Amino acid sequence: MDCFPPAPRFPVGEARPAHLCVVAPCYNEADVIDRFHAALKAVLVGLDGWSHEMVLVDDGSRDGTLEQLLALAERDPCVKVYSLSRNFGHQVALTAGLDAARGDAVVMMDSDLQHPPELIPRMTQLWREGHDIVSAVREQTADSTFFKRVTSAAFYRFINLLSDTPIVPGASDFCLLSRRAHRALRRFPERHRFLRGLLSWVGFKRALLPYQAPPRAAGHSKYTLYKMLVLAFDAAFSFSVTPIRLATRLGLLTVLLSLCYLAYILIRLFLLRDLVPGWASVIFVMVFLGGVQLIFTGLIGEYVGRVFEEVKGRPLYLLKHRPKRTRTVRSERIDHAPADR
Ligand code: UDP
Ligand code: MG
Repeated sequence: MDCFPPAPRFPVGEARPAHLCVVAPCYNEADVIDRFHAALKAVLVGLDGWSHEMVLVDDGSRDGTLEQLLALAERDPCVKVYSLSRNFGHQVALTAGLDAARGDAVVMMDSDLQHPPELIPRMTQLWREGHDIVSAVREQTADSTFFKRVTSAAFYRFINLLSDTPIVPGASDFCLLSRRAHRALRRFPERHRFLRGLLSWVGFKRALLPYQAPPRAAGHSKYTLYKMLVLAFDAAFSFSVTPIRLATRLGLLTVLLSLCYLAYILIRLFLLRDLVPGWASVIFVMVFLGGVQLIFTGLIGEYVGRVFEEVKGRPLYLLKHRPKRTRTVRSERIDHAPADR
């Protein structure tokens, strides 16, 4: 069992095994984490020609997940545990994992067994065939509620309507990244992160791998309605300037319509001479326009707020625990990177 060997010794002439690093965020997953590790391990040890390691990121759990992860790391030297100082959310926990990950290929997956580890061999095969990104595309989630299915479908339709970067419906964060795709993804400094969108933006050769998502092995979904809305907003505002452009277009349309209305009023005033002063319509127009202005002031505020958060330059996350022996992080520049995968 190889686990990121510092100096692999292989017979001369024989290629070294490729190294696979699996990144999984864990938030209050104490009920499932052992089963997740066992299932993942069974798949990873069966991968021919690959050494492996698991980077498990505790996202500020409060249910003993960290203690369980540390116990796992004691038993299995391939497990590297990182723990965030508080709950930063799924996308940031994944980012922390990607920052810590090293290898020829990196797999990102959830730790609740909804991303079947059995897909990994097929992913690595597609990597060997030359793909830089292998995205697992969820076809169905066995236990998903009607609400989650409808909101998910609406979300993808909405984001693809807004965004210039097409985002594959159902493409989850379960994916394999080649070395250069991993490097590329690590170069995004933005804090409102929607990794699925960033993956589409990155480009390179991508394969889609459909799968049926099983129900959660234990516990309950940590994606509350609020967290789903935050993700949807991050996706919309980080991948599109359409809302702010809409303000200009709607503004122009409103001016045009009001000019037509002015013409109508003038006709009634001078030609028909039947104009009765109408407070109701005046009030309606005022309130309507006030509302439109407020909506778009809010939209502009959303962008300004995001610019404000970016310029503050705060660290994206803080760690309270990391493995004792970590490799030095080298700053990597993709544009000078060798054309390795
Ligand atoms: N997760 C996390 N931080 C959070 C919420 C979720 O690290 O604030 C992790 C969680 O442990 C799981 C993955 O993100 O591994 C996906 O979360 P979940 O299964 O609750 O979402 P769902 O599958 O219901 O969309
Ligand atoms: Mg899940």
